[in-house]
Amino acid sequence: MDKMQKRWSWCSIDVEVENFRNYTFTPLAPELLQKDFRKGNLPQVCVDVTDAFMTMERFGTREEVIRWIKEVGIDNKVTVIISRSDTETGKRGRSNKIIFGCDKGEKHKISDSGTQSASKKCGCPFKIRSTPAKDGSGWKIDVKCGLHNHGLPDRLEGHSFIDRLTTYEKQHVADLAKRHVAPRHILLSLQDNYPENVTRITQVYKHKSVIQKEIRGPRSEIQHLFKLIEDAGYVYWSRKKDDLEVVREIFWAHPDSVKLLNIFPIVLVMDSTYKTNKYRQPLFEIVGMTSTELTFAVGFAYMESEQTENFCWVLEKLKELFVKKDMCPQVILTDRDLALMKAIEVVFPSSINLLCRFHINKNVGAKCKQHVVNDLQKAIDTLWMEVVWASDEVEYGQRLHQLEQACVDCSGFINYVKDTWLTPHRHRFVGAWINRVLHLGNTTTNRYVL
Ligand SMILES: [Zn+2]
Repeated sequence: MDKMQKRWSWCSIDVEVENFRNYTFTPLAPELLQKDFRKGNLPQVCVDVTDAFMTMERFGTREEVIRWIKEVGIDNKVTVIISRSDTETGKRGRSNKIIFGCDKGEKHKISDSGTQSASKKCGCPFKIRSTPAKDGSGWKIDVKCGLHNHGLPDRLEGHSFIDRLTTYEKQHVADLAKRHVAPRHILLSLQDNYPENVTRITQVYKHKSVIQKEIRGPRSEIQHLFKLIEDAGYVYWSRKKDDLEVVREIFWAHPDSVKLLNIFPIVLVMDSTYKTNKYRQPLFEIVGMTSTELTFAVGFAYMESEQTENFCWVLEKLKELFVKKDMCPQVILTDRDLALMKAIEVVFPSSINLLCRFHINKNVGAKCKQHVVNDLQKAIDTLWMEVVWASDEVEYGQRLHQLEQACVDCSGFINYVKDTWLTPHRHRFVGAWINRVLHLGNTTTNRYVL
């Protein structure tokens, strides 16, 4: 008899697999479960819906996250509830977050009379956390546990498809997506244009990804980037891992940018941005400046990582864009990215690497707020600015002395300022040193060094 039951349960799994296509595990037959319960064993049910909730999508608002999660929940027959929600208030321990759970999430409540309530809760571990991403790109979704310890209703049962997009609606989504309209606005536009439309936002996301796949065809994302670069006639190089078809770096520049670079090679600004792609790979940007103070993009690179060696490869390619082989940028402006700074020393040894004062002041300002009492912050900030603007070395010495005097009670701040910035890098951003550089070159750099 036992054998029979076992076989039956395997059969049932095969049938269930059809219905629960996205699930890794499927529940055992209810009869077996009950039997297990009677014996006092824990039910061995485990339904994994991790894949359904995994997304790299970022959401603009708390409401959008909630709407998306609830809709994916409906699609997967999970009743998602908000088990905690918090808003940042500036007080300790308070931060923006939403924790979602399953409606069968908490344990059975034992009533006063000692009997179990008739609730259907079974301590389901399903848990999703959503918080605003650190890089400011919006709310992200983090599946902490995608498992349910109970069966889910048949996905196909009673499911209507009224929310599917019609051909016209699909075209509408495609037109708006092409113009980079945000999914929530696409949905509003659909509702305006087709009053009978009951599409939910997940359908818009789904159709957007279908469109992107259609455009890309059989190419992978990286192959597609190469195709676009080639179609547009860009100058580009790439480097692969030894013996593998894995791209490590790509550098590309528009032909017009190459011309501009050769006309205005004096000042280049280099910086990385992190919000451009779902792989969180930094996009390294090189920007040039014309004599009329206009900026232009010189080139872009995706890099495997931000080590000196990777930067060296990119800068070597940049060097190849110069028509005259002995030409090089006079001033290169960067953040305090030590790997990049080292690479500049290697590839462009005669260029002067200045640091962007805007970023320095932002960092120093934050440290000041952290270490200095409120009443003194403004005065110390002013003294710091005077150090940065000192026009010669004597003035620098005097002003630094004043700053040190004012900071006797906040050694944490003055040590940071000296160790991180002034001692190793003063020649890269303090007036006394950079003024010498600037009068050699082009005064328009002021715009960036300010
Ligand atoms: Zn559950």
